[in-house]
Amino acid sequence: MIIVEHLGFFKHNLNGMERIDFIMPEQLKKTFFATLYLKNDINCFAEGNQEIVWNKMSHNYNNEKLVAPNQVHGTKIIKSEEKNSLPIRINADGIYIDEKTGCYSSLRFADCAPVVIAGTFPKPWMFFLHSGFWGTVKNISSCAIDYLLIQHKDFKITNTSFAWIGTSICKNCYSRDINENKTSDAMKIFDINNIEIKERSVFFDIPGQIKNQLKKCGFRNNNIYFYDECTCCKSETYYSYRAGDKKCRLFLLGKCTTN
Ligand SMILES: [Zn+2]
Repeated sequence: MIIVEHLGFFKHNLNGMERIDFIMPEQLKKTFFATLYLKNDINCFAEGNQEIVWNKMSHNYNNEKLVAPNQVHGTKIIKSEEKNSLPIRINADGIYIDEKTGCYSSLRFADCAPVVIAGTFPKPWMFFLHSGFWGTVKNISSCAIDYLLIQHKDFKITNTSFAWIGTSICKNCYSRDINENKTSDAMKIFDINNIEIKERSVFFDIPGQIKNQLKKCGFRNNNIYFYDECTCCKSETYYSYRAGDKKCRLFLLGKCTTN
């Protein structure tokens, strides 16, 4: 059943679990899949523990290994491979997935933006990135591009490079105290059009800033998809830290399907 459609995404209900699929373009359809599981009984029960989520769900995915790093609002990226899989949990906020990786990969979210980027050149690649306020200040998206440049010296963003910014907190819901040192540091980094000052609060447009960062990396505007729905405004559908979900998390899951 189709509930709502956003370009580049498909929100639907499968076996009683609501999810948003990140629709891969023709060139990557047979190579990668990525989906975001929304509020459901398993995610509520697991209270953000990906090991519990996977214990309950892995039978739907051939009981394969899961890479689920311990997210720390940094920029470290790890490879999706068995030595990094559960029960091991390395501190990291990005996962690199390519045709050599056989594991499933996951990250968890409650207001921070799930960013997926993928491309075909010079070989198929995909990243899962946790880009909340700090991940965006530190520009984890550009760190992913740097990671690819180390893997492939001739790497460049082409017209077959794509990016998805999943559902995250909106510019009307994310504010910080203007007198905090960290707020003024972030104001120097965010583009002026992604900041709004109202009395003692500074409102930050996190997805807007991520979009600018992706464009600066070289992604074509038409290849950047944004699920324009706020986790905090719509906390009946999504987990939102700012709306009171201190533990439960949305569950991003994906894999290279040629393995
Ligand atoms: Zn909102």
